[in-house]
Amino acid sequence: MVKTPAIFFDRDGVLIKTKIVHQNPVAIKSVNEIIINRGIIDICKKMRKNYHLFMITNQPDVSRGDNTKKNVNEINSYLKKKLKLKKIYVCFCSNNTCNNRKPNPGMIKKAIKTYSIDVNKSYMIGDRWKDIVAGQKSKCKTILLNKKYSEKHKCKPDYTIRNLKDILKII
Ligand SMILES: [Mg+2]
Repeated sequence: MVKTPAIFFDRDGVLIKTKIVHQNPVAIKSVNEIIINRGIIDICKKMRKNYHLFMITNQPDVSRGDNTKKNVNEINSYLKKKLKLKKIYVCFCSNNTCNNRKPNPGMIKKAIKTYSIDVNKSYMIGDRWKDIVAGQKSKCKTILLNKKYSEKHKCKPDYTIRNLKDILKII
């Protein structure tokens, strides 16, 4: 079977803007707050020709009681349609033992298996160390969008970029 490479996008801070509180990213609560990051529609359009596009997102606000599944699913469905993503994977847990919650690779591995993805030619793109580690555990190449959050980047990505459009120079 012919395998297809994939791009795994993190949601908050990569596909869409986050709020920043005390230099840390905070997820939006509803579909009305969505601001798609500049350039991402064009990037997805270009990438879609050769790659399956996935969104891989931790949404622990749900298990913490800070947001509803319904709100999160509405945001995700909007993005899936707008960016023509192949599939969205979401983990609502706040418990780090969950195999789906990044930095664990469960969601990416599920996509790789389901869509027979060519891992060696695939990329995980995120703005936090958890995205990068999840990508590495899945054997993807990794790109960190460096936002200078207060958290230390506990990872060694293959590439670090400051602007999303730099994705096009790498892939
Ligand atoms: Mg993020």
